[in-house]
Amino acid sequence: MEKSIFQRIIDREIPAEIIYEDSLCLAFKDANPQASTHLLIVPKKEIKSLDDISVEDESLLGHLQLVIRDLAREFELIDGGYRVITNCGAGAGQTVFHLHYHLMG
Ligand code: 5GP
Repeated sequence: MEKSIFQRIIDREIPAEIIYEDSLCLAFKDANPQASTHLLIVPKKEIKSLDDISVEDESLLGHLQLVIRDLAREFELIDGGYRVITNCGAGAGQTVFHLHYHLMG
């Protein structure tokens, strides 16, 4: 199966403006930002969408939430507020089929 664009970013095959990385996830700037801060938070594990998570991903998903919280603080989004979005399925606008969260503020 062909790698998704985000898997290629994780594998450093294509460039991205990477903001944060740890053993479980990567965060980088969206190439087509819809807000003054628009980051994508992506698990390194290949999961297609929110519909493909399982019980074994519970701690990974909690970890992503904490990373998002920390990035929102780092980018000083608390006062103005921010949105966290995941599009699940093409009908909802998902275009990259590797689970990701948009952080916008
Ligand atoms: P989705 O529509 O799947 O929820 O979100 C995909 C997001 O990935 C879009 O906001 C789009 O701008 C972003 N995107 C697509 N290709 C690339 C890329 O090669 N690099 C980066 N940094 N963002 C991308």
